[in-house]
Amino acid sequence: MYDIAIIGAGPAGSNLARLLAQQTQLKICLIDKRPLQEMQPNARRKACGGLLSPDAQKMLARQGLTIPVSILEDPQLFSVRTIDFDNRLENHYPRHYLNMDREKFDRFLFHLVPNWVEKRQGILFDVKKRESHWTLHLRTNTQTESIQTKTIIAADGANSFLRRKFAPNVPRPKKYISLQKWYPLHASMPYYTGIFDSSVTDYYSWTIQKDDHLILGTAIPVGEPLHERFEHLRSQIETHLEIPLRDETRTEGAFIERITHVNQLLWEKDGIYFVGEAAGATSPTSAEGFSYALQSSLYLADVLANEAIRPAQLYRRKCRKIALKLLAKQVKSPAMYHLGMRKLVMKSKVSAISTNLNNGFQKED
Ligand SMILES: Cc1cc2nc3c(=O)[nH]c(=O)nc-3n(C[C@H](O)[C@H](O)[C@H](O)COP(=O)(O)OP(=O)(O)OC[C@H]3O[C@@H](n4cnc5c(N)ncnc54)[C@H](O)[C@@H]3O)c2cc1C
Repeated sequence: MYDIAIIGAGPAGSNLARLLAQQTQLKICLIDKRPLQEMQPNARRKACGGLLSPDAQKMLARQGLTIPVSILEDPQLFSVRTIDFDNRLENHYPRHYLNMDREKFDRFLFHLVPNWVEKRQGILFDVKKRESHWTLHLRTNTQTESIQTKTIIAADGANSFLRRKFAPNVPRPKKYISLQKWYPLHASMPYYTGIFDSSVTDYYSWTIQKDDHLILGTAIPVGEPLHERFEHLRSQIETHLEIPLRDETRTEGAFIERITHVNQLLWEKDGIYFVGEAAGATSPTSAEGFSYALQSSLYLADVLANEAIRPAQLYRRKCRKIALKLLAKQVKSPAMYHLGMRKLVMKSKVSAISTNLNNGFQKED
């Protein structure tokens, strides 16, 4: 019998396992469907930009962690280029991201988990409550197995199985499917591009250079024609940036959940704790989620390690800070996602630095 089973060894789950193992004597099991012990070149990868925002960098620093150079990718990014196809405007503003290999980042955090935490590879497909403990049913490559635990932590990301099963009536964030393709790149593009085009999505699209490749990605509401919209985006960007986006070497997809109200955040339900993206904690404006995964796991570790009398209540209270940050992003959202307001913001030059005329787009200087 485990004291704690953590489902999902993404940034939230691995960080939580590491902190709990360092601070407690609890018997912990960390479960993931992915083989995280070693890098597997052809394994399925989570679609991700792999950009570590200033807030996420602060969260790592607060926990005494730094990123090894081996995880970083070229180039490091100090500038965001915003392309607004709706208003035919574009600009640059300064922001420093660490540009990383996402898979290596996950494995780095996973390997920091002390070896007295039991790590299992398997897909959680059923959970039963039996008096004071839970029975988890896992499917592995060869068989199914069951384990018992006193506490479950849902760190299973967007479209969380545990959230769907145990909190079907809690309002859900809006669901998107993201698609990313990797194209060979022949000239450097040392900035992160955010692309707004309402004929593609009501969210946004992006490009990020990763060494000698360029990622083009977008997030489309579930139910809308993903491949058709992606193709429209690809041909627009190819023309606008005057670079060939052909012969992709990799295609990746993932769900993204975007909160439209903070009541869609879920930190605890029936004794199950939620961290990271399973809790709904990603930015509704940029989909940035590492900082919230690291922050929520830090708070939960603190609550569980200190054996709080009302742990659920205390965890929810601590997470109000995250909810407030996300609320602030939501308030900011119309400035990015309302066509007229975005036009005003881009023209206001509050945070923007001018860029050159490009394919007939208006220069902001
Ligand atoms: C296209 C895209 C681009 C993004 N780019 C960025 C970015 O550049 N910067 C940023 O900060 N954030 C980005 N995000 C968001 C970021 O990926 C998430 O916020 C972050 O990964 C959340 O971490 P997590 O640990 O909560 O969940 P995840 O990283 O999703 O980890 C969940 C884990 O649970 C496992 N799992 C799921 N279900 C089961 C199951 N039933 N049984 C066993 N294991 C299970 C999965 O294998 C996975 O390892 C992006 C997201 C997307 C989709």
